[in-house]
Amino acid sequence: MSTDPRRQMFEPIEVALEELRERYLPDDRGEVADDIPELAKADPGHFGLSLVSVDGHRYRAGDTDVAFTMQSISKPFVYALALADHGLEAMLDRVGAEPSGEAYNAISLDPDTGRPDNPMINAGAIVSASLVAGAGAEERFERIRTTLSGFAGRDLALDDRVYRSEMATGDRNRALAYLMRSTGALGCPVDEAIEVYFRQCALSVTADDIATMGATLANNGENPVTGQRVIPEEVDEQVMAVMATCGMYDSSGEWLVRVGLPAKSGVAGGLMALSPAQFGIGLYSPPLDAKGNSVRAVEACRDLSADFSLHLLHRPARDTPVVSLRMPDNDEPAVLCLRGDVDFVGAEQALRSLDPVEAHWAEHPGPHELVLDLARVSSVEPVAAAMFEALAAGLAESGVRLSVADPRRRALLAELPEREAP
Ligand code: GLN
Repeated sequence: MSTDPRRQMFEPIEVALEELRERYLPDDRGEVADDIPELAKADPGHFGLSLVSVDGHRYRAGDTDVAFTMQSISKPFVYALALADHGLEAMLDRVGAEPSGEAYNAISLDPDTGRPDNPMINAGAIVSASLVAGAGAEERFERIRTTLSGFAGRDLALDDRVYRSEMATGDRNRALAYLMRSTGALGCPVDEAIEVYFRQCALSVTADDIATMGATLANNGENPVTGQRVIPEEVDEQVMAVMATCGMYDSSGEWLVRVGLPAKSGVAGGLMALSPAQFGIGLYSPPLDAKGNSVRAVEACRDLSADFSLHLLHRPARDTPVVSLRMPDNDEPAVLCLRGDVDFVGAEQALRSLDPVEAHWAEHPGPHELVLDLARVSSVEPVAAAMFEALAAGLAESGVRLSVADPRRRALLAELPEREAP
């Protein structure tokens, strides 16, 4: 637990993580993966939870510095790199974005085109890895390693033993690759694609690392600990969307209903989940359920989501941005005072609140004026700005002038004329 006095006030978060650890540590259901023989050596008693906020603060409990291999947790990051290289349209031609509803190693290919259903299952991940720009397996993997290191904020290394172990036994993935090669879905030689894919799966991380990686996704693609922009914002959104619908294999639908956080699990026992604009969480516990997800990590995420109201679709009741409306009075303009982050719904409420002012203007001779007081507004979304500009244009037609007052002159509505504070 933290001893830094400045962080005492955040201790409840570490207490909550520690409680989850204690609650589920005795749960010994599940089996440690053994289809990659080297993974069977993991200690089933390990359990770590690490959380990194988008401000870059870290909270942890348990075994958060035990190394394990990423396995499928590498998939969203490699997909992100391929998306950054080619763009969404070109990627959708090669790998779909539909949940397969099947096991991660199933032959989930489009019957007509051979295109894999999504990049979070093995078939789609093998094609994604083959699409990362680079001259051959070596160069492609180095780009992957560098990008994933950017997400983690430290240099990630290959676990050579796990890599060799999968190389020696991963024939099902080879078979998938041959099948996709035969239909043209895989554009490079099987050995090359498999080498890159097995290497990305064997990158060694800790729960702390995958928490930072999740926090980077939660923070629009910019690592909140190092400040490095790792992927473009639009790619970040696309990756989180695919994680939300496909990240937990054939339990993705139930996961979205119950937990409601974009997530990705791996057969080594890691699970990364994130809450957009809030935090990333990394969990590690090797015993897996029948679908290949870590038993303790899944239980802990369910509780965390419920206890902290984290479901993506949970929306707390919102405040109206309208602080006050001063009606026009003789020569004095009407003043609409707003606050907070003004988005689409906020702008809509602000515009509706003007109905009595418009009724007043209709009954009184002009000239009329409306002032938007933005002193307490922190941001205006582009859609809201466009709505206020349209309002200004409409009012101008009926001879009403709309101006903006902001003592800090932040040009939040740069297209509208400024006025001294009302
Ligand atoms: N390397 C593993 C495989 O391809 C990754 C699978 C997983 O983590 N679900 O089988």
